[in-house]
Amino acid sequence: MKTSYPITSKQAIDLENKYGAHNYHPLPVVLNRGDGVYVWDVEDKKYYDFLSAYSAVNQGHSHPKIVNAIVQQTQRLALTSRAFHNDMLGKYEKFACEFFGFDKLLPMNTGAEAVETALKICRKWAYEVKGIEENKAEIIVCENNFHGRTTTIISFSNDPVARKNFGPYTNGFIKIEYNNLIALEETLKANSHIAGFLVEPIQGEAGVYVPDEDYLLKAKALCEKYNVLFIADEVQTGIARTGRLLATCGDCSCSDKNCSGKPDVKPDILILGKAISGGVYPVSAVLANNNVMEVIKPGSHGSTFGGNPVAAAVAMAALEVVRDQALAENAFELGQVFRNELNTYIKTSKLVSLVRGKGLLNAIVINDTEDSNTAWEICLKLRDNGLLAKPTHGNIIRFAPPLVITKEQLQDCICIIIKTLKAFEN
Ligand SMILES: *Cc1c(COP(=O)(O)O)cnc(C)c1O
Repeated sequence: MKTSYPITSKQAIDLENKYGAHNYHPLPVVLNRGDGVYVWDVEDKKYYDFLSAYSAVNQGHSHPKIVNAIVQQTQRLALTSRAFHNDMLGKYEKFACEFFGFDKLLPMNTGAEAVETALKICRKWAYEVKGIEENKAEIIVCENNFHGRTTTIISFSNDPVARKNFGPYTNGFIKIEYNNLIALEETLKANSHIAGFLVEPIQGEAGVYVPDEDYLLKAKALCEKYNVLFIADEVQTGIARTGRLLATCGDCSCSDKNCSGKPDVKPDILILGKAISGGVYPVSAVLANNNVMEVIKPGSHGSTFGGNPVAAAVAMAALEVVRDQALAENAFELGQVFRNELNTYIKTSKLVSLVRGKGLLNAIVINDTEDSNTAWEICLKLRDNGLLAKPTHGNIIRFAPPLVITKEQLQDCICIIIKTLKAFEN
């Protein structure tokens, strides 16, 4: 059967509805091409992409360097499994370890798998290094977290839709309020079985919640005090999205004048995914130093596709793009512009109550209830006006363009966004 025939938006949506499981509620737009900050639908209408596949496409759509890496490597050798060595994995592991400043990397494919991997490493460390009694380890997580969709991960979610009727759930997690150091310390003090603290540096899916300035640094200090691993899920915030290479990075070459000299919040376990491949291939990674990563022994963990040569080639190219095109610096600068201009508009707005975020991970909060569909209606109008964004919850819209966006393009987008919002003011 021929599969390359052209179809209309309506036909494509009807096919998905009929033959696909209904596990998403996409904005009605059918894309067939992308380039940099732009995507085009099947009717050839052009849009700015302000979701970037949930921050997987930080380097922009179809970046030539990354596309070239995937094509070249796929033609040469795509998959060996880890039963044999391949000539790309070690090179990539060295490159990424030096890039992020860790001793070792464990390669996986998706973000959820990398989170699972981090949890397994943390538990093993708790028993074999910290000396917690077997099967007693607990990991502290935060309310309103998003770490993926596996059975274990949804076990400690508090999103009722993500959890309902997927039980029985995995034990061993304690949930505390996000951005609450007192709750963290009390939990650490009250319980001698704590192995780790899993946290998003900014809660992306929850609606781009930015914690207090010193939260991560102090949380890390508490983890050290109680001999607990600080696990940063940077699947969405990492790889330059928030104006730094990592949102947990306090000292880098970005143009933030307040940045240099600030101590680094260095996670004991760092979880990366999404933009580590620039969105062309599922690649995720867990990084840690030897004292933690060495609990992993042959046979204790693995993945058929994890660490394959295509993933290795793609990730190296994608990270080189981040460095060579100074994407963290661009995200830092343009993020300021974005929030400044939106704040100016918000002063006069009854519809939008605030804009928040870091770098180019931002969200606006619509002055309406969580179960309203105002944000959805606004996103439909944004689409008509040539910009694609998606609500997270009924009254929050996330704005996360590819980090290759130029200042001129961003100004154009700000005009589209404000013009669209104005049409909803009354
Ligand atoms: C997207 C995301 C994940 C899950 O990644 P998948 O590749 O979808 O499994 C985990 N953590 C965070 C913070 C994310 O944003």
